[in-house]
Amino acid sequence: MSDPFELVESHLSHRGKVRLHGRDHLRAACPACGGKSTNTLSVRRGDNGTVLLKCFKSGCEVETIAHALGLDLSDLFPERDDARPVSKPRRIGLMLPMQAIELIASEAWLTAVAAENLANGYTLTDVDLARLRDASARIQGVYKELHQ
Ligand SMILES: [Zn+2]
Repeated sequence: MSDPFELVESHLSHRGKVRLHGRDHLRAACPACGGKSTNTLSVRRGDNGTVLLKCFKSGCEVETIAHALGLDLSDLFPERDDARPVSKPRRIGLMLPMQAIELIASEAWLTAVAAENLANGYTLTDVDLARLRDASARIQGVYKELHQ
């Protein structure tokens, strides 16, 4: 697995002087506009490993700078681990999975209490029944979202 920053550094150092400023920043001559100063191009390692290029002499396009180094734009980005693709948690309707689980758990709890009351011979009030219908509708709503 290659590091985009090190890749750019190695391509630049083949062409001329590279001045390192710590692990994540270097300065060199911009390969696109051919400046002699080793200060014209700034190369930084971004937070996610992406290389950030900035030409201070002519404001060269990132793609132009990459091509001048014999690289493609994609070389400036870290490789994806295709075995474990980054995926967002799937939403269930408008809810995140954890929210759906919390809703189901609380409605299931209410339903279980009502069921236990019925099993013990209690009768449910109209208010209890209305709440039980709400719980049923919510549970069915999530179920339908998952199975549509
Ligand atoms: Zn330039």
